[in-house]
Formats: sequence, structure tokens, C-alpha cells
Amino acid sequence: MQPVEHRKVIDPMRPYVPGRPIEDVQREFGLTSVVKLASNENPLGCSPKAREAVLASLAESSYYPDGNCTNLRARLSETLGVKPGEIVFGCGADEIIGMTGKVFVNPGDECITASATFSQYEASAVSMGGVMVFAPMKNNAYDLNAIYDRITDKTRVIFLANPNNPTGTMFTAEEEIAFLEKVPPRVFLLIDEAYAEFVADPSYPQTLPLLKKYKNIMLVKTFSKIYGLASLRIGYGIADEAIIGLYEKIRPPFNVTIQGQAAALAALSDQEFAEESFRNNRRVMDYYCHELDRMGVNYIPGQTNFIATDTGRDSRGVFQALMKRGYIVRPCYIFGMGDSWIRVTIGTMEQMKGFVEALKEALSEP
Ligand code: PMP
Repeated sequence: MQPVEHRKVIDPMRPYVPGRPIEDVQREFGLTSVVKLASNENPLGCSPKAREAVLASLAESSYYPDGNCTNLRARLSETLGVKPGEIVFGCGADEIIGMTGKVFVNPGDECITASATFSQYEASAVSMGGVMVFAPMKNNAYDLNAIYDRITDKTRVIFLANPNNPTGTMFTAEEEIAFLEKVPPRVFLLIDEAYAEFVADPSYPQTLPLLKKYKNIMLVKTFSKIYGLASLRIGYGIADEAIIGLYEKIRPPFNVTIQGQAAALAALSDQEFAEESFRNNRRVMDYYCHELDRMGVNYIPGQTNFIATDTGRDSRGVFQALMKRGYIVRPCYIFGMGDSWIRVTIGTMEQMKGFVEALKEALSEP
């Protein structure tokens, strides 16, 4: 029998490799307690107000959600100072990134990003038959000049993560503006600020006001990180109304659940939780980096809720040794980084104290 025909452009693609689930690791290693520091989730959970809103909304589970996310749209439009029509919601920022390829990329078109960055940019381009061009990085950070140098007549989309995953590095407001001034307006720029709320560096860009001047940008945000709503899958893009109109043509009609919308709305009204998440992250990150310094372990000082840590040996072995001790991290070769790196999400102080001990043991194994 003839096999079913599929689109050959997806042949080089590989399924996304997520962080290993806690229960899986518990079962495999016979552990009662496992700490997941693998997916940049919020170790403080989410706002109690968001949890209550989710529970209350469960009563509406038999209804389709409001595909327009009307209340949340109104709220965000007010707080961000943008028109309601300048926002598109997604099943996580992931879906906004995925839709971008569908909106802009024809077979053979080129997209550009950095060599070690979030994998879904490549998936978005390649799934539509596009070619992803990877620009080299400078000191583990995006090199916007190297990206600019790779723009050709075929370039359709440039994907920028600021701060970047998995390196945690950022480009400054000055660098961003210099780049925006140079990029031809026909090229679309997706600026993914999933981790923006963790940044402490004052030279970090304020991208939102720039959207008024540069009509070829989309700013992407998520409720998964500082608001701790990763399982509820909700993110959004902000761009010119004409651009949002293109996304709306292809957005699945009910892509954000009632629970996700309710949680996001409640989370926005609990900025205290977000501020506590920021403070915890800084405090614990300082502790972790200090311990790495004491151990003589190299790492990339970052602006996010994770630290790329150089184990100085094949990270696969360290990954296993840590898992055996009840800590799940991510080896960075899956992100296009060197073989010796792991990405460690910043947990609570207690979790990281345990993790530091486990890391010492793992690194002293032959
Ligand atoms: N962008 C970046 C840079 C990320 O690291 C992630 C999450 N790993 C996402 C987007 C996707 O976030 P979401 O949970 O909103 O789909």
C-alpha cells in the first residue's frame, strides 16, 4: 500500500524535547522527592487569586471560551496603553511564534535568529518550508550586527529573544533602536520578551512605545513565567492592527481556554505576586551564582529566571547524575549550545541549596 503523502519540508524537523516530568523521574530512579529546574517555571507557583479564578471558571467548562478574550483584551489594552485590536492571544507565546511562520513565510523564504536560542523560531520557519539562518553570537549573546549582515532579499522574519533562552543574556535599548533603524521595513521582527519581568538591568529596552514608530514589529509576552501560569497556556503578541489582522485570519477560534483567560486576568490584578517572584529570583540567583563562583564553575550571568552553567564536561553525564539525586535540569546541546552546558532554572532558596550540594557531588563523580 502507498504510504500517506506528507509535506516533505517537515522531514528535517525534530519533535520538541521538553523538560522531563517529575513523576517520570520519580519512577525511573525510585525517588520520593524530585525538584524540576528544567523548564523555567515559577517556583512560587502562581497568584492565589489566579488559582481561585481558575477554580471558579471550572463551572463554565462545558462552554467554548470567548475566542476574542474580550475582558482580558480590554484589561491589557488599558494597562499597556494599546488599542484592543493591537493584541492577539495565543495558546502560550509558543502559538504566536508558530503563527508567525504561517503569516509570513513562503517555501524558500529566509528567517534569521541567533545560533543558541529558543527552538520554536526555527520550527515556525521550517514548518512552512522556510530556511532558518543562524547568526553567530558574541559572548553568548545576540549579535544584532551579525543578524543584520545576514539580511537578504529573501528575509521575511527575524526572531529575537530578549532576554535570550538559554543564555539569559540581553541586548540594550540602544542596540535595539540602532538595529530597528537599519532593518528594512519589509522585514518582520518578532521580539520575544517572555522573560522581560525578570530583568534588572536598567539598559533593557522599553519596546512597547517603539511599536508606534516601527510598524514591522511584534512584541511577544507570556503569562507562563513571572505569573506562573505555564500549564494554562496563555501568551500574546502586540503589533500594529494590520499585522494583528493577519494573525487573526489563522488563529484557531478557541485557542485560549476559559481557565487561562480567567487566570491571566486575576494574575494582572496581583502585581504583588509578580514582584515577590522577581525578588525571590534575584535573591536566589545571587546565592546560586555566588556558590558557583566558590566552586570555580563557569556560568553566564543572566537577566532571567535561569542560569546557563558550564559543567566543564559532557553535560549528558551531569544531567543523569543530577537526576539520580532528584534534580531535573536541561542539557544545553538541545538548544544549540556547547556540550558542557546545562540550563538551571532558579528555584526557591531551599531547592537551590539542595541543588548546589547535588551539583558538587555530580561534578566530583569520575
Ligand atoms: N519564548 C521563550 C524565549 C521561551 O523560553 C518560552 C518558554 N520556554 C516561550 C517563548 C514559550 O512560552 P509559553 O509558555 O508562553 O508558550
